[in-house]
Amino acid sequence: MALVVQKYGGSSVSDAHSIKRVAKRIAATKRAGNDVVVVVSAMGDTTDELLDLAGQITPLPPQRELDILLTSGERISMSLLAMAITNLGVRAKSFTGQQAGLMTDAVHGRARLVDVVPHRIRETVEKGQVAIVAGFQGVSSTNDVTTLGRGGSDTTAVALAAGLDADVCEIYTDVDGVFTADPRIVPSARKIDRVTYEEMLELAASGAKVLALRAVEYARRYDVPVHVRSSFSSTTGTLVTGTHGDAIDPNAPAAEEENQMEAPIISGVAHDRSEAKITVVGVPDKPGTAARIFEVVAGAGANIDMIVQNVSAAHTGLTDISFTLPHADSPSTLAALNALQDELGFASLQYDDQIGKLSLVGAGMKSHPGVSARLFGALRDAGINIEMISTSEIRISVVTREDALDDAVRAIHTAFDLDSADGEAVVYAGSGR
Ligand code: ADP
Ligand code: ASP
Ligand code: MG
Repeated sequence: MALVVQKYGGSSVSDAHSIKRVAKRIAATKRAGNDVVVVVSAMGDTTDELLDLAGQITPLPPQRELDILLTSGERISMSLLAMAITNLGVRAKSFTGQQAGLMTDAVHGRARLVDVVPHRIRETVEKGQVAIVAGFQGVSSTNDVTTLGRGGSDTTAVALAAGLDADVCEIYTDVDGVFTADPRIVPSARKIDRVTYEEMLELAASGAKVLALRAVEYARRYDVPVHVRSSFSSTTGTLVTGTHGDAIDPNAPAAEEENQMEAPIISGVAHDRSEAKITVVGVPDKPGTAARIFEVVAGAGANIDMIVQNVSAAHTGLTDISFTLPHADSPSTLAALNALQDELGFASLQYDDQIGKLSLVGAGMKSHPGVSARLFGALRDAGINIEMISTSEIRISVVTREDALDDAVRAIHTAFDLDSADGEAVVYAGSGR
């Protein structure tokens, strides 16, 4: 008997019909002799709708209240799903994050898990019942409800799988697995059968929202095998583990052969529209300036990504520093920098929220020269201007105009021979929001 943790994303439970469909799948897994723990997201685009609603009340809602509001979405889906499973003759019980023992720090809106004590979940499973847990939420040491950041239900699922020592964590979504690019933008994207935690970390950090970054970090730390797959088909999805060689079915004849295979040069192309660019214009080019600017930026709570500093103009001794950060962190960062303009000595600030970022990710890049040249060449041929560049050992990222991003992703996908020969990727549901 295996212990399976299954997570169903919002698009898999968007209405009553979908909830009943998912319930059938869960009941079948239970009847096949497995212990089953389910993590569920809010129905459809509920979280976005609740955020919009709060925005109509006040431009800057208090984070604590926002967390209470947003966690209500998962309460709706967890209870309905428990009802649907019970209706099929399988006993099921739903639990909030707090009841499930997901303990977090007190940083509302992006709380981190500090402990997972799933006693009630274990008890429920031991009684032969299916435990349904509300994703994306926990409780702080002061007993306040917290959320784990957007996409946080993935993290709940992986954390419970680790805490319960589950055999596998299945992430059910609206596409057949992790693809070489977002199938909504690149219909010719190819499903990846296996990907390592490292590559998935880079893809997730670069914007491939099919799996939340923190969930991948958690899976790597606790060595939880994650199977990303569609709730709308029975197709085998993508296995995320420590090596390329792990087979989903270790007895499958292909496993031996696959073990011999080297890591592919490129895993995929990710894109991200959630960032903006701030340029600090006319900064004195002397030691300590960057340190002071980024102290101020950090103090504003911004999570910065890329940084570029230009060579200073010889006659003025002044330079420009640009950096990218999430849209959401921009207002507080601009305000903090503006407040210290005299001390920092810059001439002005420029804000640009019309940027897009694409990232080419692959472990094989380390040992293959010429990857950057090919990427830049493909963008040149597509007539797309590069505004910023950053690299890691297994990733190259470039910033473009936002309206050129989709074309850029498709051009790079083709340039690296990632296009599938066997038809278009299926997007089963979801609004892509
Ligand atoms: P869920 O509601 O199930 O959590 P998400 O919307 O969070 O689903 O994630 C699934 C979506 O991620 C897909 O519909 C797809 O548009 C997007 N996506 C982005 N990059 C990729 C990728 N490389 N592979 C698969 N899907 C991707
Ligand atoms: N409902 C939350 C969100 O939309 C959490 C999740 O779906 O993973 O971000
Ligand atoms: Mg998600």
